Amino acid sequence: MNRRPDLGPKPHLGYTASLIDRAAHRRNEAAALASDARAGAYLVGGELIITRKRGEGGDPLFSLAEARALAPARETVLLGFLDGAPRFGLGIGKEDAEALKARADDFLVTDLRSIAVQGLVAPEHLPPIAEAKALLAWHARHRFCSNCGAQTNVSQAGWKRECPACKVEHFPRTDPVVIMLAIDGERCLMGRAGRFVANMWSCLAGFIEPGESIEEAARRETLEEAGIVCGRVKYFASQPWPFPMSLMIGCHAQATSTEITVDREELEDARWFTRDEVVQMFRGEHPEQITIPPPIAIAHHIIRAWVESDDVFA
Ligand SMILES: [Zn+2]
Repeated sequence: MNRRPDLGPKPHLGYTASLIDRAAHRRNEAAALASDARAGAYLVGGELIITRKRGEGGDPLFSLAEARALAPARETVLLGFLDGAPRFGLGIGKEDAEALKARADDFLVTDLRSIAVQGLVAPEHLPPIAEAKALLAWHARHRFCSNCGAQTNVSQAGWKRECPACKVEHFPRTDPVVIMLAIDGERCLMGRAGRFVANMWSCLAGFIEPGESIEEAARRETLEEAGIVCGRVKYFASQPWPFPMSLMIGCHAQATSTEITVDREELEDARWFTRDEVVQMFRGEHPEQITIPPPIAIAHHIIRAWVESDDVFA
């Protein structure tokens, strides 16, 4: 018999389940595709996403011609196709994005976190916006060759930069981050970073280092941040996280020690929480008003999977 709590229908994991067909083999046709009358574009200015105001929210998809008329693009990248129609991402200057933000009657311009958490655009737009934002963030940081210092040129519709001097090819990168919930029987380990909203606790997380496996990184980060030793690590799910260009790799980790030592450089605090307490957090009934991250974040799903499972390591 399942003794686990019923937390209702499972919410969608943010930025995943893109409807875009990336069609990598068509990236050499970008110039021709840009003249397709059905071509649509997302406009990104650093952290800001430009949308056309619609009620309380916004429509983030412009025709490519409209998008180009709003601000000069520093980079134009081909995201892929939706029902055969090309979809582009346009990277514009922060000052141009701020200027559009000032036109508050016409445009809703805000950061992607706010858009996602507050549901300001239709959910199907979130994955291609994440794709555009992460890819454009990579371009903004890689205009010069990391091998020889020369200015590089964009090719393959934004999926490559080539160095004319030393001929090295540079490809867009994703930074892997491990995010894990350490478990000790009926308790789980959560931490609070100073940057979190008040009363929110979450999984511990950190960048995977060169030469490290996912499992090793999960153990190292849990030990460094909270002093907890972990044995078995089980992969749960992953999520693109375009802040600026990460991949969150979600895991459950079996704790083999219990005494917490918090790294105050990384965390404000870390604590064990019982399963019953975590259920209260999901229901908004925790006595200290403690909350967990919203469903847009994979932490929500990692925590929920443990709450609902008899054994996440099975
Ligand atoms: Zn070079």
